[in-house]
Amino acid sequence: MATPFHSITEEDIQAVVEVLKSDWLTTGPAIERLEEAFSQLSDAPHAVAVSSGTAALHAVMHCLDLKPDDEVIVPAITFLATANAVLYAGGVPVFVDIDPGTALIDSGDVERKITPKTRAIVAVDFAGQPCCYPRLREIADGSGLTLISDSCHALGARYQGKPVPFFTDFTTYSFHPVKHVTGGEGGMVVCRDTACNAKLRRFRNHGIDKDFREREREGSWGYSMIELGMNYRLTDIQSALCFSQLSRLQANLSERRKIASRYREIIGSSDRLRPLNTVPDTEHAFHLFVVLVDEKAVPGGRSRLFADLHAEGIPVNVHYEPIYLHPYYQERFGDRSGRCPNAEQFYRECLTLPIFPNLSEETFTVLSKILKTL
Ligand SMILES: *Cc1c(COP(=O)(O)O)cnc(C)c1O
Repeated sequence: MATPFHSITEEDIQAVVEVLKSDWLTTGPAIERLEEAFSQLSDAPHAVAVSSGTAALHAVMHCLDLKPDDEVIVPAITFLATANAVLYAGGVPVFVDIDPGTALIDSGDVERKITPKTRAIVAVDFAGQPCCYPRLREIADGSGLTLISDSCHALGARYQGKPVPFFTDFTTYSFHPVKHVTGGEGGMVVCRDTACNAKLRRFRNHGIDKDFREREREGSWGYSMIELGMNYRLTDIQSALCFSQLSRLQANLSERRKIASRYREIIGSSDRLRPLNTVPDTEHAFHLFVVLVDEKAVPGGRSRLFADLHAEGIPVNVHYEPIYLHPYYQERFGDRSGRCPNAEQFYRECLTLPIFPNLSEETFTVLSKILKTL
């Protein structure tokens, strides 16, 4: 029952082949087309393609010009890259707890953890559900902080009819194969500020003020490196694949929403499994379908159910262990267990059911049977 998380069509393959036969393999017309599509989709003026979602987060952190000891607020439940990016840029990630119903960042705890050193808040649209952005915007504005969304789970999600970048200063996306749209690897930053747009573009290209194509157009050889950057360029090969995949985003989202409602039907009556709450007036992107397994009611709890489903070949998973519990973070920042009690409880109970569009009926049947007899 090994089904890949991604789906590749003949059109996708054709789009990649066209680039391979063209004059540009990297930083050419395909990347511009993809950036333009993202800026339209996000209703935001700037979109900068980079080599991964992690690179996107690092580039955003670079724009903050963090001083040592500057703090950036991140939720305890997210993929490691959200917090690691703060470390790359020389800052300190400050972990805040989640709301136990939605597993999204708890705005009350955000307010409690703001200090004079706080520079930014990173909200993570966990599982594909947008955070409460109007509230987070208010908190950020009230303390002069930058509001960032790590929306790597939530391409196409909306809050009160508005795309996530409507509310934020920066929004990041990933094109890893498990995400809604893939380029093999890849990432994107969407932003509103023109100076930041230029800084992001420099950062992905060694801190150089002009890229090769610009110099070609101008007929000049000169360029200057004005800050320290990276090579975080996305290739045109990857951009073309992403662009082709993007045309199926709406279909992908509706497929995911269908699977989610089937899961809700199965789980609906169970007092042992509880899906995460969905927030009204949002459009959920369902990157993950997470259920909480009642430790007391289910013998062996989440770990037992994980093992049972895994033994049947169902691609179940666990997202995520609170970041500060990882050995590296414990060694660097000390033992912080107990810091975010909701996050730690969540980690004991959470189980991710497969929700990608390729999910076979067979997988679905096996899964339903096990969940129903729980
Ligand atoms: C996937 C993901 C990333 C990192 O993206 P990569 O493209 O794998 O570098 C960052 N944050 C979250 C929440 C993600 O899901």
